[in-house]
Amino acid sequence: MVFKKIRKSHVDWRDFLCGTPASDYIFQKDAYEEQIENAVNFIKDADAVIIGAGAGASTAAGLEYGGKRFTDHFAEFIEKYGGHYMTDMYAAGFYPFPSEEARWGYWSKHALLNRFDPPALPLYQELYSIVKDKDYFVLTTNVDHQFYKAGFSAEKIFATQGDYGEIQCQRGCHPKTYDAEELFRKMDARRRDCLIPSELVPKCPVCGGNMTMHLRCDNYFVEDEQWHEAADRYADFLDRNQSKKVVLIELGVGFNTPIIIRFPFEKLVREHATYRLLRLNMDEAVVPEGFGNRAIGISGDMAGAITDIGRLIG
Ligand SMILES: [Zn+2]
Repeated sequence: MVFKKIRKSHVDWRDFLCGTPASDYIFQKDAYEEQIENAVNFIKDADAVIIGAGAGASTAAGLEYGGKRFTDHFAEFIEKYGGHYMTDMYAAGFYPFPSEEARWGYWSKHALLNRFDPPALPLYQELYSIVKDKDYFVLTTNVDHQFYKAGFSAEKIFATQGDYGEIQCQRGCHPKTYDAEELFRKMDARRRDCLIPSELVPKCPVCGGNMTMHLRCDNYFVEDEQWHEAADRYADFLDRNQSKKVVLIELGVGFNTPIIIRFPFEKLVREHATYRLLRLNMDEAVVPEGFGNRAIGISGDMAGAITDIGRLIG
């Protein structure tokens, strides 16, 4: 519903969303085993499931952006650009690379490591087996394609923030994205001293300007036809399930980008008496106290919690 409003009237959809005052949030005191049991009952009892996944889900699944995984794969970049800036893959992505050859030298490696080379990870596979027989939909800010790899239907996924596997015009001059796997593999094979050869630097086929990753990081993010179709399917799913029993499974969504999943999910629970919230979050599993037993907030090891839920659902 919210997303249809974007398309039809170009209203800033953020105006429709609001958060919960911090004072209303509580950490639930129930024992872990009890929470898992209640979570299983939520899911078994539901007519439909909406999964909302943020960065914490992929970190828990094993795609860590810092630590050894970063220093092992990006040693050459850390040495060239300085460890002060190159602290992890988030920071590295924002580095002001001095040339297009340098920028694509970095991003081709980042995309292969996080999007193309990893197989479907167990956390996502277990999640799929938990919901596959339900009427489900996935809303995610993750751009690593894990839901698709794990078997979730592409028709039931709305990845709002883009995809590491695609590139677009840097100025967003036309609403189209381009599959970049082959290009990234060529860049990877020919990268020297963190730089790719100039002839591999992609140019916009329409305006001739620079290209960039298809990631929402500024106002030039391209919402192409597939993006709008996915937004519409999500809106239809919500419309269809207005009065059904719906469980919202929120995974690893913190307060960095709460306006896509966290706040809208809370709004849905507030407005629908038949909706329930299952929030899995390492450190921020607080839930609005007013939701009472319609919300479960499970802290700590998300991968373990999903395994435990999956085992009980069978
Ligand atoms: Zn262009």
